Amino acid sequence: MSRVFNFSAGPATLPEPVLLQARDELLDWNGVGASIIELSHRGPEFMQVAAQADADLRTLLGVPDDYAVLFLAGGATTAQALIALNFAEPGQAVDYVVSGHWSKTAMKQAGPYVTARVAATSEEGGFRDVPAPATWSLSPDAAYVHYTANETIHGVEFHDVPDIDTKTPLVADFSSSIASEPLDVSRFGVIYAGAQKNLGPVGVSVVIIRRDLLERSGQARADILDYRSHVRGESMLNTPPTWNWYLAGLVFRWMLDQGGVAEFARRNARKATMLYEAIDGSGGFYRNEIAVQARSRMNVPFFLHDERLDAAFLAESKQAGLLALKGHRVLGGMRASIYNAMPEAGVRALVDFMGDFARRHG
Ligand SMILES: *Cc1c(COP(=O)(O)O)cnc(C)c1O
Repeated sequence: MSRVFNFSAGPATLPEPVLLQARDELLDWNGVGASIIELSHRGPEFMQVAAQADADLRTLLGVPDDYAVLFLAGGATTAQALIALNFAEPGQAVDYVVSGHWSKTAMKQAGPYVTARVAATSEEGGFRDVPAPATWSLSPDAAYVHYTANETIHGVEFHDVPDIDTKTPLVADFSSSIASEPLDVSRFGVIYAGAQKNLGPVGVSVVIIRRDLLERSGQARADILDYRSHVRGESMLNTPPTWNWYLAGLVFRWMLDQGGVAEFARRNARKATMLYEAIDGSGGFYRNEIAVQARSRMNVPFFLHDERLDAAFLAESKQAGLLALKGHRVLGGMRASIYNAMPEAGVRALVDFMGDFARRHG
């Protein structure tokens, strides 16, 4: 067996100890003689796994008690629609801050249910910066303000929670940066994230909701689309994605064992600094086009000075044990995703390879 450094944007690399534990437990979880994914979600074994994952995530993120935490199937994209259905009246205004691909997706998913307004956008500049919160044009009647904390494809990130001077709840897509650094959850109405970037495997998403918002009537919807019902049913209104929930729980445990989000913030800062310094110090061989203050710590898109070298870069990097560096098709070029589970040694190996490649092809 040989494991490479995997820079995939999502599904993304998982911590090796988590994969090993899952392997060890796959046939026989905790002496039960069956896999955790072969057992009823309502049985005592999975209830224990679910409750532990919930408690660990709350500890990890410092989620206050007046917030509900849901583990749901459907991914972040489904949450984008459900948030509109649950927290806005039919056709009510919602303010969207558009900082890249995923902000646009959020608007699109809410489109049938709300009057989605663009409060600010950085599209004219090709999404190379985030719109400064002071420039956001917010509607007084908006049900909520939505923004994307980290744009996974464009590689731009808000480094501070936007300080908006309004009582309108802030709703944020943290799919690709949740648990990467300490976060004041109490500043938000809703935080949501698909798990497959920083929390575990695809197939489960986490939705953190300030409980008073659950009193909003929202719009006509089936029970299965109703967050209140999911909260009452403890995310088990129907059969939850037990395997994904279990694996995410192992990732939470691993993060806590490693020192929690404060420790990952330090590691992530070192990794991002190392990579951006390699790009900026390459004498133009590599370039990242994002405004320095908005550069993502999680997803680093970069371009070679001559795109005719792209194929060689991808082939040689793969040979060097560096996987999935091809950029998103919307942007081309390269992208290195360096989530919590990417060790510093992986970024060091990438930076060494980039230096070597530049010397040989410069
Ligand atoms: C990946 C991603 C999504 C989409 O997640 P799905 O689970 O595929 O629906 C949404 N927002 C951001 C920021 C993402 O990175």
